[in-house]
Amino acid sequence: MEWWISMPKVELHAHLNGSIRDSTLLELAKALGEKGVILFSDVEHVIRKNDRSLNEVFKLFDLIHIITTDHTTVTRITKEVVEDFASENVIYLELRTTPKRNESIGMSKRSYMEAVVKGLRAVDAVDVNFAPHYLGEGNDICNGTTKKKIFVRLLLSIDRRETTADAMETVKLALEMRDQGVVGIDLSGNPTVGDWMTFLPALKFAREQGLSITLHCGEVPNPKEIQAMLEFLPERVGHACFFKEDHWENAKSSKIPVEICLTSNIRTGSISSLDVHHFGDLYHAKHPLILCTDDSGIFSTSLSGEYILAASSFGLGKKEMLELGRNAIEFIFADDEIKRELREAFDSAAGTLE
Ligand code: 5GP
Repeated sequence: MEWWISMPKVELHAHLNGSIRDSTLLELAKALGEKGVILFSDVEHVIRKNDRSLNEVFKLFDLIHIITTDHTTVTRITKEVVEDFASENVIYLELRTTPKRNESIGMSKRSYMEAVVKGLRAVDAVDVNFAPHYLGEGNDICNGTTKKKIFVRLLLSIDRRETTADAMETVKLALEMRDQGVVGIDLSGNPTVGDWMTFLPALKFAREQGLSITLHCGEVPNPKEIQAMLEFLPERVGHACFFKEDHWENAKSSKIPVEICLTSNIRTGSISSLDVHHFGDLYHAKHPLILCTDDSGIFSTSLSGEYILAASSFGLGKKEMLELGRNAIEFIFADDEIKRELREAFDSAAGTLE
């Protein structure tokens, strides 16, 4: 097996509905087509298309949400997404998703999240540790079985279309679900929509209550918002494609870790080519950064793919990539005990990969 697949990896920026297998999405769309809910022939080419602008990506998400937002499907895609990450040796996954309401089918934000947790419990191809004190059958990370193991923690996303009250509801739900693996809050959704001040009260409340926060930041040129977000001192930011020099100075002096999604940034046209991607500068400046997929389904990528892409584009070897992967442990939102276990897993893998 190639080293970038067999090396252990930590994934910190993966959206549930962006990480669905193409085959599952097409199967679900076909079934809805047969029921007459959508016109499959219209939808098929949209799903199969590869390069999309950021705006087209959000149009696709609206379509995906029509296809996936019912409890059974949410459970299924959660299970599959975790299995897919585990199959490429992701040993710690922070999976983020936006709790959704759909009154017509009796779905509340809470029942949506319960369906997600049900999906975590349903995984049987690998051992999943998803809650601080949850050890399901055979789920002990050190139990000597040969089954693969993965830690999964959840981030609840606030969509930028939401109101302050919606955002607050999501934060309260996250707090209630801390014993089921929820460790933080993400702000995402179309960056051309919504205003930072709308979400700030809920994010402040989340912080006061001890949740960690990651923000999609600088996906479009909006210097004032980027500055305000950096002043908030989030535990991590995602993307950072349109940071200006003063933003970088600020982010670097505050050592805010950046979740880097190479393929996503290139496919959406946020960055014109890899040779000008900020990964290079951040890596050489030793700024905290984490390679991530963003939406492995939408962008037809994988975390292993992102590692080999970074290695080949920026001239890094296996040793450097292992070190980069291991450093990601420092920026996870789970506790120190898990960090310790992950470091051990990396260290024992390092010996076999050399
Ligand atoms: P979900 O939260 O429904 O599981 O995952 C899909 C959602 O994640 C999208 O509707 C969008 O709100 C958010 N998302 C996925 N990819 C991106 C991205 O690249 N940028 C931003 N800002 N949001 C994203």
